[in-house]
Amino acid sequence: MSAAPVITYDREQMNIVIVGHVDHGKSTLVGRLLADTDSLFEGHEAKIRAICERQGKEFEYAFLLDALSEEQEQGITIDAARCFFKTEKRDYIIIDAPGHIEFLKNMVTGAARAEAAVLLIDAHEGVQENSRRHGFLLSMLGVDQVIVAVNKMDLVDYDQTTFDRIETEYRSFLSEIGVTPQCFVPISARDGDFVADPTKTMAWYSGPTVLQAVDAFEKEPPKENQMLRMPVQDVYRFNAQGDQRRIVAGRVETGSLRVGDRVVFTPSNKTSTIESIESFNTPVASAAHAGQSVGITLAEQIYVRRGDLMSHVDALPQVSTMIRANIFWLGRESMTPGKRYKLKLGTTSVNVVIEEVVSVLDASELDSDTNKSQVNRHDVAEIILRTRNPIAFDRTQEVEHTGRFVIVDGYDIAGGGIIRDVVEDAEAALRSETRQREFRWVKGLVTLADREARSGHQAGLVLFSGDAGTGKALLAKHLERRLFNQGIGSYLLDGTNVLLGVDHEELAVAEREETREKLIRHYGEVAHLFIDSGQIVISTTNTIGLAEHQTIATLIAPAEMVSVHICPHHDQAPLNTDLVLAVIEDVEADVDRIMALLQERGFVPALQSTDD
Ligand code: GDP
Repeated sequence: MSAAPVITYDREQMNIVIVGHVDHGKSTLVGRLLADTDSLFEGHEAKIRAICERQGKEFEYAFLLDALSEEQEQGITIDAARCFFKTEKRDYIIIDAPGHIEFLKNMVTGAARAEAAVLLIDAHEGVQENSRRHGFLLSMLGVDQVIVAVNKMDLVDYDQTTFDRIETEYRSFLSEIGVTPQCFVPISARDGDFVADPTKTMAWYSGPTVLQAVDAFEKEPPKENQMLRMPVQDVYRFNAQGDQRRIVAGRVETGSLRVGDRVVFTPSNKTSTIESIESFNTPVASAAHAGQSVGITLAEQIYVRRGDLMSHVDALPQVSTMIRANIFWLGRESMTPGKRYKLKLGTTSVNVVIEEVVSVLDASELDSDTNKSQVNRHDVAEIILRTRNPIAFDRTQEVEHTGRFVIVDGYDIAGGGIIRDVVEDAEAALRSETRQREFRWVKGLVTLADREARSGHQAGLVLFSGDAGTGKALLAKHLERRLFNQGIGSYLLDGTNVLLGVDHEELAVAEREETREKLIRHYGEVAHLFIDSGQIVISTTNTIGLAEHQTIATLIAPAEMVSVHICPHHDQAPLNTDLVLAVIEDVEADVDRIMALLQERGFVPALQSTDD
């Protein structure tokens, strides 16, 4: 048996995909690339040529692939969908063609991602509808590096005008969808013109061959050279008595970290310094790199939790509740605007709804539609998503790992997506202000982390909402008392108390948007001060409408908010409510429920016994 081509792992590898309308010459080009770069089994081509001769049919380069898949069926380990060829520069893996469900699934889940593409157009047939759809699909999937090979130039007598016309037409289409091809190469895959070697057939062309063009694709920098991204998987406490330290565990997805690095946890914006790196089962290290699972301890004992994304302070991820994404839908049930799903990104999981379906591409038919309002099974769509709470992420083109998510419907993964852009939500300006506030806050020698470590509980806000007369003020008072009795710093902050100093005339025009905003702002800043002093603030203001929940949450960041909504008339609770109570019947029982929620969210430690 002849020697199989070997991938040597110290060589650079690149995944590429070759796409084009049926019969435009994809298999022929792949066969050519394999043959012309000596990447086939030794004697393979000769064997196929001999078979063709015996059967009296003309040899085709595409047969090299068919024969490969036959060999594969006989148990020989070569994957026809993943043929590869080598150049001096690197090894290429050719991923199966798009339009295939498997390809799309792999692309959106990151299982096998094409880094670059060769789009093929038949010079004789010209730009077909499918040529456009393929271009569109690539742009949807975030494949930004593209070359166009104009094939079968022999059929048009190697005519430059034909080539130029196709280039002009297709280039202008690609620019409409935001794709800038690196070059157009006139080729004949069958005869090998300008695939691996330039030939005399097209002396008017002075650009690169297909091989030179793919060698010019840029490889993204190795993961450890990218920005630091470590999603927090879990937080453990040291067991030793009196040791207050926690270990923050996670996998370094990209970048590196070192002892002494200043880091920030997003979306909460809590900052600290890495004190030590504890790798599992290996000696304590001073640095960790992409791919490693580590536990770190921090200089300040801040409360971070699963789902936070750790980065360096000078290379922050994006934060928003609104994202523009391209998704591939696998769910049996269509994805519909308004329905709630779960979005999972890194270690975070959050409720999400589709805000808008921008455009939909039916992957099996490759039929594009900008008027569809839902996303069906096997559609690729550009959508705008709104998450319940702000999440930390990146655009896929910046950091691939944190720019990728899945959508869960019930218990099933129903779709996968890549994030193309941040959409500024209503809180964007406020969020960046509070981020700045956090970085600039003049701190005393006693930090919030010190206070939390001493009191043994986290500071934060419990926000009650619901109509007047529902009994929420009474419930709030009992919660304050319960917390106090358990030695937990708590403070009831009624809206009235905060607004006493505010001009009455201003209050009278509280309907006015601007005044309202000011009041909310004022309220949030006061709450933030109390929280910074280590208290659990309990709020019952009627001034704050449901829509302002998010504003308050933003204002008190990095502290967290737990929201309790009381709605006796079963009106719809806002998207970001943690607990909905229909009516207050038994106040203490309701306080129990809120206490359980506070324990679950890590605000207060789990209790051994009640002391009421
Ligand atoms: P695919 O469907 O895109 O994979 O296309 P194939 O590679 O199977 O090619 C379809 C047909 O076009 C085959 O009969 C090939 O021989 C033919 N073909 C491919 N490349 C060329 C070329 O450069 N010149 C000519 N004349 N025919 C070609």
